[in-house]
Amino acid sequence: MSKIKMTTPIVEMDGDEMTRILWKMIKDHLLIPYIELNTEYYDLGLEHRNETDDQVTVDAANAVKKYKVGVKCATITPNAARVKEYGLKEMWKSPNGTIRAILDGTVFRAPIVVKGIEPCVKNWKKPITIARHAYGDVYRGVEMKIPAPGKAELVYTAADGSEMRETIHEFDGPGIIQGMHNVGSSIESFARSCFCYALDTKQDLWFATKDTISKKYDHTFKDIFQEIFDSEFKERFEDAGITYFYTLIDDAVARVMKSEGGYIWACKNYDGDVMSDMVSSAFGSLAMMTSVLVSPEGYFEYEAAHGTVQRHYYRHLKGEETSTNSVATIFAWSGALRKRGELDGNKELTDFADRLEKATVETIESGVMTKDLVLITTFQDPQVQNSEEFIKAIAKRM
Ligand code: NAP
Ligand code: MG
Repeated sequence: MSKIKMTTPIVEMDGDEMTRILWKMIKDHLLIPYIELNTEYYDLGLEHRNETDDQVTVDAANAVKKYKVGVKCATITPNAARVKEYGLKEMWKSPNGTIRAILDGTVFRAPIVVKGIEPCVKNWKKPITIARHAYGDVYRGVEMKIPAPGKAELVYTAADGSEMRETIHEFDGPGIIQGMHNVGSSIESFARSCFCYALDTKQDLWFATKDTISKKYDHTFKDIFQEIFDSEFKERFEDAGITYFYTLIDDAVARVMKSEGGYIWACKNYDGDVMSDMVSSAFGSLAMMTSVLVSPEGYFEYEAAHGTVQRHYYRHLKGEETSTNSVATIFAWSGALRKRGELDGNKELTDFADRLEKATVETIESGVMTKDLVLITTFQDPQVQNSEEFIKAIAKRM
């Protein structure tokens, strides 16, 4: 059988710990046997980020701009413990944060729905796609520990030297402050990506913020969405028979729990971070959640929504067997390959992506799955597989 050819590379971003192990298994068993894999490889493993002073992350993001499609393995975001563990020069920033800051755009996360894994919110019948704004707010926050009494202020200095000033707080003892920002153009592209994605997938769009409390910051998000909707999307939504719905974040949370699903829930950066974990675990497992960063310029970066599964990796290092779910990482690859195929007019490649996803879903639906799913499946006699067996079972089905 001749292998499928790729005319343009995909940007491949390798990562850390257990997902790095899965990454190689997926390539060896599910991709390389079928495709002449054409990737530009960037090692975003923590050691290499440290060696390159994190330049490799910036280079990888710029490569995604060049080739338009990237696929990323989960990576460690260093904290104090990781600085010690890896002897890091610095507590490097979150690679996802760095990449998102360079590409802008919006992250769409949707559960991979399979028979036998039923959402634990029993009224959820259809997937809920979370659209997470990928720029700014607390992720680009500047923080200060206030040591002693004093006045904290917000100061904006315009290009002409004029100032705007607000008192944050008059401290009479120690405390903390945080400055956050967002930019109009990023909020606009967030809104446009969400409206476009809603039209593309013919799903209603919900958006929520805390505009009653945050009368300038959050209210600006609400206003920008409404302006762009009214001027560019209203009629197209009516034609498509879908709706745009704005409400307060706490009202949204309550409604989501009682809904049937089947819509896109647009969230500010932090809300999206938190809510995507809630939605994915309620739908089954973090390992059953796809994630794609869509930039307004049409760059796509695919990844799994979960982390590097550290606990499993330490077991793996001790020579113990692991049963880590590779589905989200497989779907990151299939998503990137499908998009590459679409952009290049390479039907063989898009067909392959479909086949890979179908084989993965059917493997689980035949009762063959990793331990995380065995614990929650409604099937009577599931067959538990270790990390590699599961991937090999998909290969066999392919
Ligand atoms: P995690 O890697 O998502 O894992 C948390 C727990 O969720 C695991 O211990 C495991 O539970 C379960 N889990 C997650 N993915 C799984 C999978 N594929 N198969 C089976 N079980 C899975 O989160 P974490 O342990 O908090 O973070 C580890 C590292 O990942 C951190 O250094 C963090 O910075 C990084 N991280 C990276 C990304 C990213 O690159 N996108 C996102 C989040 C976190 P059990 O142990 O109970 O089996
Ligand atoms: Mg999160």
